[in-house]
Amino acid sequence: MNIIILGPQASGKGTQAKLLSEGLGLFYFESGNFLREKAERDPRIDEIINKRGELLPDEETFNLVRDYLKEKVPTLDNFILDGYPRSLKQYQLLIDWLKEEGKKIDLAILLNISDQEAVRRLSARVVCEKCGSVYNLITNPPPGGKCQCGGNLTQRPDDRPEAIEKRLQTYHATTAPLIEVLKKDGILVEVDGERPIAVISDDLLKIVAGHGE
Ligand code: AMP
Repeated sequence: MNIIILGPQASGKGTQAKLLSEGLGLFYFESGNFLREKAERDPRIDEIINKRGELLPDEETFNLVRDYLKEKVPTLDNFILDGYPRSLKQYQLLIDWLKEEGKKIDLAILLNISDQEAVRRLSARVVCEKCGSVYNLITNPPPGGKCQCGGNLTQRPDDRPEAIEKRLQTYHATTAPLIEVLKKDGILVEVDGERPIAVISDDLLKIVAGHGE
């Protein structure tokens, strides 16, 4: 089963994708961390994704994702992609390539939350400088104000208010046409992302199980 998971920033798609990948033994790929790692070694990518808060060009992102997936999941089966595809073009590049390889995306999960909720969650998000653990000052505060590993917690540059607004606008503009096509392809399932983590996770496991029948 190959799954893509979509949703605005802070919709909880990373959390849900990880739970699904653990529950179902899927390879988990997360484009944000993957590209931030690339940015550490490439000032041009750093400028685009961290400083300007923009998306990396579609073809370039696809090429990076394709090469990585091919290396990590040579069978191209049983993966879940979080953060890719983010645009219609990225989806088309992905499914055309998978088709050539005799594979496909079976299911697309869309986790919906309002913009207001996204801003509220993102403004409270902090990340450990040392181990990368993510906390939320409202919903998942770090014990004693420090990371469990002892590292310092900081806000991601693209979680600052001016960058958040831009990221949400970009999300809506680029994802809306993709959502329409996923609906037409009959693989989209929409889920309310403003419920408790465990409730959503149960829901998703049932949806995936039902899909395989
Ligand atoms: P995220 O952690 O998912 O919000 O991703 C952080 C940043 O990485 C985004 O704001 C983009 O600049 C870049 N990025 C992540 N996924 C993609 C993608 N599929 N296409 C282009 N850029 C991406």
